[in-house]
Amino acid sequence: MAELGMVLDDLQVASSEAMRLPEKKRQIRPKGYTLPLELSKVPDFDELRLAIGRVTGEHETKSKKGGNRTKRLRLRIRWIGASGMSADSIATMLAHWDPSEEPTGDPKELSERVERARIRRRTKKAAPPKGQEKVPKTTATTERYIRDPEVIAWVLEEAAGNCESCGSPAPFRRADGEGFLEVHHVRPLGEGGPDIIENATACCPNCHRRLHHDPAKNTLRRKLIASINRLKDFQAKT
Ligand SMILES: [Zn+2]
Ligand SMILES: [Zn+2]
Repeated sequence: MAELGMVLDDLQVASSEAMRLPEKKRQIRPKGYTLPLELSKVPDFDELRLAIGRVTGEHETKSKKGGNRTKRLRLRIRWIGASGMSADSIATMLAHWDPSEEPTGDPKELSERVERARIRRRTKKAAPPKGQEKVPKTTATTERYIRDPEVIAWVLEEAAGNCESCGSPAPFRRADGEGFLEVHHVRPLGEGGPDIIENATACCPNCHRRLHHDPAKNTLRRKLIASINRLKDFQAKT
């Protein structure tokens, strides 16, 4: 309900005894919460449930034995998405509501879902995900660039085991003893950059990822071009 943006407008005790009281007297207010309550802003639902339990137990319709914490409650919920939906279809939707993100084979979709899942993990406690024992494959065709191995080989030989961006030696050696570096296109192929040595550089994995993901990647890119004679600044083609 919180994820759908529902708002708790009113909370009432609805036991058969309480239903004989006027509406005002049935209303209860959990301590520490103000109604209307945006459920998405509730940090801890166990705590809210306990607060509701406490105030329900203190309600004046308590049985002879004392506070009854299991009274029937009526919740009045406001939800903008309800327009055009029947009460039944809302009930069905809530019963089947699964807030976890589905696995996907689409890398862009995957990173969007990771972001949403991280926000959800930050905002509420949940058991660790079960993950997938059997990992399905997709046969979807993806477009790949056909790259020239001569360009990759030339750039790696030129770098001779040192990152062309930070100057450090490759962080580890491959099984064949070669220092591990990656070849990056200074103007990415996806932006129309050419697959030629003037647009290719050998970097350590950290620098490579930074060149793709650092918010200052354009500055890093310009520094790299300025520091290596071979590199030229190719414009992006859209
Ligand atoms: Zn580096
Ligand atoms: Zn790259």
